[in-house]
Amino acid sequence: MVERLDEVDRTGTDRGVDALTPETVEAPVLAPAATVAGGIPSIVSALRHAVGETGLYRAGRLLLDLNQEQGFDCPGCAWPDPDHRSFAEFCENGAKAIAEEATRRRVGAEFFARWSVGELSRHNDYWLGKQGRITHPAVLRPGESHYQPIGWDEAFALVASELNALDRPDEAVFYTSGRTSNEAAFLYQLFVREFGTNNLPDCSNMCHESSGVALGEALGLGKGSVTLEDFDHAQLIVVEGQNPGTNHPRMLSALQRAVQRGASIVSINPLPEAGLIRFQHPRHPLELLGKGTPLASLYLPVRINGDVPLLVGVAKTLLEMAESRPEIVAREFIAAHTQGFEAWEAAVRAADWDALVARSGIDREGMRALADLLASSERIIFTWSMGLTQHRNAVDNMQEIANLLLLRGSIGKPGAGTCPVRGHSNVQGDRTVGITEQPSAAFLDRMRATFGFEPPRAHGLDTVESIRAMAEGRAKVFFAMGGNFLSATPDTEFTARALRSTRLTVHVSTKLNRSHLVAGRAALILPALGRTEWDVQATGRQLVSVENSMGVVHQSRGSLPPVSEEIRSEPAIVAGLARATLGARSKVDWERLAGDYDRIRDLIEQVIPGFEDYNRRVREPGGFSLPNGPRECRFTTQSGRAQFTVHPIPEEPLGPGQLMLTTVRSHDQFNTTIYGLEDRYRGIGRERRVVLMNAEDLRDRGIRPGQLVDLTSHFQGETRVARRFVSVEYPIPRRCCATYFPEANVLVHLGAVAAKSNTPASKSVVVTVARSESSVPVHPDLHGEAPART
Ligand code: SF4
Repeated sequence: MVERLDEVDRTGTDRGVDALTPETVEAPVLAPAATVAGGIPSIVSALRHAVGETGLYRAGRLLLDLNQEQGFDCPGCAWPDPDHRSFAEFCENGAKAIAEEATRRRVGAEFFARWSVGELSRHNDYWLGKQGRITHPAVLRPGESHYQPIGWDEAFALVASELNALDRPDEAVFYTSGRTSNEAAFLYQLFVREFGTNNLPDCSNMCHESSGVALGEALGLGKGSVTLEDFDHAQLIVVEGQNPGTNHPRMLSALQRAVQRGASIVSINPLPEAGLIRFQHPRHPLELLGKGTPLASLYLPVRINGDVPLLVGVAKTLLEMAESRPEIVAREFIAAHTQGFEAWEAAVRAADWDALVARSGIDREGMRALADLLASSERIIFTWSMGLTQHRNAVDNMQEIANLLLLRGSIGKPGAGTCPVRGHSNVQGDRTVGITEQPSAAFLDRMRATFGFEPPRAHGLDTVESIRAMAEGRAKVFFAMGGNFLSATPDTEFTARALRSTRLTVHVSTKLNRSHLVAGRAALILPALGRTEWDVQATGRQLVSVENSMGVVHQSRGSLPPVSEEIRSEPAIVAGLARATLGARSKVDWERLAGDYDRIRDLIEQVIPGFEDYNRRVREPGGFSLPNGPRECRFTTQSGRAQFTVHPIPEEPLGPGQLMLTTVRSHDQFNTTIYGLEDRYRGIGRERRVVLMNAEDLRDRGIRPGQLVDLTSHFQGETRVARRFVSVEYPIPRRCCATYFPEANVLVHLGAVAAKSNTPASKSVVVTVARSESSVPVHPDLHGEAPART
């Protein structure tokens, strides 16, 4: 029988759970930062993780199928696959991702009986993730401290009773992470909209929302314009705010090919990253004997969030150069395809050199070096990632990139254009098939025509708004299709309070994470199939499909039997939930759809333009490309032209003694999943609570490398504190520092978001750093002496 939560005590939802990762600190093991990526260490690391977690046979089988045309799509990043696949079409991080998913370790009823959620929270996220795959649905009942087994029907009935008891459908929030397939995502948004809300926040709200807004306004499509093949034609590739060696390592193959045929690479980033210095392709044995291929020929160590002044400075240089070389300004292209050039040109010419240099941290010589490369290249690609998207003025960053490309007429032709690289394998596809809190009227009209119900028209809540709504009691049920919401979101303690304020939190998950522990009055974990596993439904084995960063939709089929008979596919979970919640009032035959994913794809084809003949084309080798206007010089902006846009040069953001902090990932990390404790390329091991600081900034504060420090963030008169980080001297620009997330998320105030996109500004956090006041004993190595760099 289903227990209504109303009848149960509402108190005690924190259950003694720590929302923050433990503050225990060990001495990091430091080594010189690497100057080459890939090579034998990558091979060793990939095999160590894959074989160690899954065993030799399973590892071999999985790695041979990973990213192959008839195999399964890497659950890691969204970098595209080449048309012609090799036998080993993966990187070190792809191997780690499947090792995590296909691990032989299990989290079942005995595990949950042994550990209370409070006890589990005393472990760090790395330990939690290493406990293994969740094998059965589990419930955390009100007032209780341990998850217990629950049957699927009872779990669905519990969610349905809570959803149907809400005063309004908008009191529920339905989050999606970027792993969810097109089929599951479409079904999920269908259920959510038939239930009656557009509260569909997703992880895109926290990463590339700024790119989508910027590109949508400037070029008419909120996606990148290039294909993988364009990397083989570009003369210049500018990599900005991005660390491809760690976050999408196969991109290095494309960069290497580009360099080998004579293209130039420019790296713009506060931290020098090994992956852009030199690359040894792990699949090319001869290279493993040499020094590898040098990649970036120009490195500009921009200040954190100094990109707008840098790009405007480069544009100003180009305009000055054009006085003697008028061909630098692509007049014909500008006249034929763009709008707003004159206003932009006037603003750029009027910009103050001293401010541009001071705010960017790059002198005029550096700007001139990039301008020279831009001026001598006809085919230019700008590629970026979250180093540009998570700032208060993040949208401006991508629009300044668009300005430069338009100035050079370098978009809408082979080898040229925009390339935002997405961090999760299907985050772009989920958006395409309807996971958005801001659906267009045209999309909703097609939903109504296809399904015969009136979808809600009012826009819903994004991620940041959802957190506020939960904290204020306006959202009472939180449902997450994948992800680790607590660790992915900013302002950890506030977000934890928000989740604890709900009546029910539900997570569709493969593995344990901190979000399962910080729960509402009740909580459910619904275990889901992973990408690596067979998905067998009523009509037999199913394929799913995903869209990569370059708009190619392709299939994915798992290689191994599921880890437990009790886990279900995400479409099956959505169908079960919809049947239990909507019952006879639904106009959808959920059973039929969950039993045959071809039927789901038929519906996607009816609702979403570009998916014509979906079931046939998705089975073709390599899949198919979705329409992309900017790729063909079609700019569907309001004016029908590509738009030059003018942005202010940000004021100096730092007061006396303050630093600008950026959060970063380690090399053993993918989003919130911590694969290990080595940040090999940066030469930092064993400990993640570190803060990377410039030597002079350390000296100014009387802090020796290796000492424990506390970080305090400052936002509109409010402070947040993260205690006990080990200071590490690092080549980062002055007045900048870096820490890993999610440990540092606690410093990011929920109100610190990008204008227009509402993306948390996790990469520009104003902080002060001081020696730790903590009296808690620390590791003996940390009493003031710098750990040796070995
Ligand atoms: S580059 Fe990305 S998608 Fe490709 S194997 Fe590596 S993690 Fe997976």
